[in-house]
Amino acid sequence: METYPIPMVPGPVRVPPEVLAALQVDYGSGDLEREFLDLYNQTEANLQQLCATRNRIVIQTGEGMLALWGALKSTLRPGERVLALATGVFGYGIAEMARAIGAEVKIIGLPYDATLNNWEEIEAAIHEFKPKMITAVHCETPSGTLNPLAEVGRLKAKYGVPLFYVDAVSSIGGTPVEVDAWGIDLALGGSQKVLSAPPMMAFVAVSEAAWEIIEQVDYVGYDALKPFRHAQARFEFPYTPNWHGVASLKVASDLLLQEGLANVFARHEQVAAYCWQRLQALGLRLLPRPEAIPSPTVTAVYVPEGITWPDLDARFRQHGLVVGGSYGPLAGKVFRLGHMGSQADMRLVTQALDVIELVVRAL
Ligand code: PLP
Repeated sequence: METYPIPMVPGPVRVPPEVLAALQVDYGSGDLEREFLDLYNQTEANLQQLCATRNRIVIQTGEGMLALWGALKSTLRPGERVLALATGVFGYGIAEMARAIGAEVKIIGLPYDATLNNWEEIEAAIHEFKPKMITAVHCETPSGTLNPLAEVGRLKAKYGVPLFYVDAVSSIGGTPVEVDAWGIDLALGGSQKVLSAPPMMAFVAVSEAAWEIIEQVDYVGYDALKPFRHAQARFEFPYTPNWHGVASLKVASDLLLQEGLANVFARHEQVAAYCWQRLQALGLRLLPRPEAIPSPTVTAVYVPEGITWPDLDARFRQHGLVVGGSYGPLAGKVFRLGHMGSQADMRLVTQALDVIELVVRAL
């Protein structure tokens, strides 16, 4: 496999050596050794800090989509109402997923370059539709946008909506995700974004209200949350624990906490601002519309005129830079720089922008 000296894909991101080292250990059985339980509990405590929550955190084997599916299936029955706030690939995708499991879904949607700002429309929909669950995406990775969620949490509380489900897969750790303050009942994270671990773990911060509903729904499946409710207390996990995966998450979250979350967030803001400024100075157009909120973890840029995305990608690679394309209606039109976690590094981002400048100026 060819590896590139300037990795800028918005997940999986470059895995730091400390995290790689945690994978190179011949662990015993996580079902038998109490050491694994201690590790799981400590990792949960770390992730609680990243999510600003006292809620329990379920750590599952699998990547982000596992958490997205498992949390929906564990809390919804066919016919129940879901209000999906959608501003991008994942927001609209979650609406489709909820529909696929039989929920009655109403979408409040905005274009892919926007972030939530239509509060009156959202409030009216909550009032009239009376959903059991509101879904939203914090960072829409394919669009490089960050949805403000505090106001959704306020509306959720005002109308007594039972569940607020948030995909924070590409924001947790890189920018504040205030699970308790924003009233999030199911906050979903993955290992290969800001945490910079391999793509093999997912986690969900589950509120007490969500646990009650999980008991009632009683969903059974590999991705079910229910078996995790008492897994630690009974030292009984639903399948062989992925010791390597949990160990990598532990080291990854330790690294962020040792740096200090305020410093980590500032690092992401700085590299993102630098990235936006240099791209715009080159005459490139950022995807988020001017009034939208760009994410400090990923930047989406329009492919310049006169070149196709595959050609641009090939030229970047010739210079050692690998970036992401995009998905859905943005496929082929947009490329993305993932400056999250280990890649929120000014030296790396400067190298990436130097290559982009070289290639774009030569067009
Ligand atoms: N949600 C968002 C916002 C994502 O960016 C991604 C992956 O890019 C996912 C969910 C799915 O995660 P995974 O690819 O780890 O299954």
